[in-house]
Amino acid sequence: MEEQAQAQTLIERQDASRFRRVCVFCGSSPGKKNTYQLAAIQLGHELVERNIDLVYGGGSVGLMGLVSQAVYDGGRHVLGVIPKTLMPREITGETVGEVRAVSGMHQRKAEMARQADAFIALPGGYGTLEELLEVITWAQLGIHEKPVGLLNVDGYYNSLLSFIDKAVDEGFITPAARHIIISAQTAHELLSKLEEYVPRHDGVAPKLSWEMEQLGHSPKSDIAR
Ligand code: AMP
Repeated sequence: MEEQAQAQTLIERQDASRFRRVCVFCGSSPGKKNTYQLAAIQLGHELVERNIDLVYGGGSVGLMGLVSQAVYDGGRHVLGVIPKTLMPREITGETVGEVRAVSGMHQRKAEMARQADAFIALPGGYGTLEELLEVITWAQLGIHEKPVGLLNVDGYYNSLLSFIDKAVDEGFITPAARHIIISAQTAHELLSKLEEYVPRHDGVAPKLSWEMEQLGHSPKSDIAR
C-alpha cells in the first residue's frame, strides 16, 4: 500500500509543472476570429491540466473573460489584479475567483509580475502589447528570469516577430535577448517550451541588485556594510 502511494507521488512529481502560477496578458476584446476565442479557452484548459493557477488583469471582457472562466471552471485558483478605477462591473465585468484591488496600472503590472512564475500573451491590442513588451524589457535588464511566451494563434503575431528580427538585424536587440520570447502556435506546445526555458542573456544589472534597490538599499551602502 505504502509502495503504491510512493509510486503515485513519483508519477505526480514527474507530471508536475515547474510553474505554480502563470500570468496571462490578452485582449479585452474577443477578436474577430473564433480561433482567438478557442485559443483562450484551450490555454485555460492546458493550465488546468498542468495544475497551474492563473493571474491576469481581472474582469470578464473579451479573451480575458474566456481564459479566466476556463481556469476557474477547471478548479484552479484565479487571481484578478485590477485598478480601483476599473473595478465597476460595467467597465470590466465580473472577475471569477480572487480579486485584488490596486491603486493604478503600474501597480497592477508589478503585482501580476510578482505573483507569476511565467508570462503568456494571447492575441490582444495595445494593452497586451504594452504588458508583453514590459516583461520582456524587465527580463532583458535582469529584473527577473521568468519565461515569456507568445501564443501566436493563426499567425497573429507574425508581423511583430518579423519586426523583432529586423531590430536584431539592425543592431537594436541582441541575438541573446531575442531568445527571451518563446513563441508557439498552440498552448500545449508553448507550455512545454516554457517549461524547458533556460535564460541565455545577461541582464544589465543582476536580479539581486534590483531586489536590493526595491528594499531601499543602495549598492554603495551594501558595500560599506
Ligand atoms: P488590450 O490588449 O488593449 O485589449 O488590453 C488588454 C490588457 O490590458 C489586459 O491584459 C489587461 O491587463 C489590460 N486591460 C485593458 N482593458 C481592460 C479592461 N477593460 N478590463 C481589464 N483589463 C484591461
